[in-house]
Amino acid sequence: PENDALARAESLIGVIPDYPSPGILFRDITPMLADAAALRACIGALVEPFAGRFDVVAGIEARGFLLAGAVAAAAGVGLVPIRKAGKLPRPAVSVDYALEYGTATIEAHDDLPEGCRVLLLDDVLATGGTLAAAQRLVGRLGCVVAGSAVLLELDGLGGRALAGDDVHTLFHA
Ligand code: AMP
Repeated sequence: PENDALARAESLIGVIPDYPSPGILFRDITPMLADAAALRACIGALVEPFAGRFDVVAGIEARGFLLAGAVAAAAGVGLVPIRKAGKLPRPAVSVDYALEYGTATIEAHDDLPEGCRVLLLDDVLATGGTLAAAQRLVGRLGCVVAGSAVLLELDGLGGRALAGDDVHTLFHA
């Protein structure tokens, strides 16, 4: 039954051509999020390899927040938002990373306990740049990456070269 729910969850991830710009195949997780059984199965499967091995979950803006909230509640841990630059009100640590054109910056508040084990979550692994930057950010905070998990990995973009071969992925496309 749990495998049926995961198969259903996979089928509920939409593919939107040319969004947000021409040539992009956008993976839309919102139909999966809206389905109770699919969401529960995904949350369970995301966290399963890391059970009992993390102290806090960090969601990457913006869709990682949605997963992180559910995982934190299910696992009984707290949640840290990893935000785009300039959104956090208190002193934060920043990491810059390369995009196809230009650079981006992600930040987190600088107040996690030293050595805290952080599980990183996002919706999609594409080139891996975002997740790799989040992993560096965890290190800069004096914390430890307990693991990195995504719903969907876009094979062929080589995301594991940047984000590491141990990224936990539920679905491939
Ligand atoms: P990357 O840094 O290239 O691995 O891109 C991953 C980040 O961009 C994640 O935060 C995703 O939410 C987003 N992303 C990249 N490609 C897609 C896509 N095709 N559909 C939905 N989100 C994407």
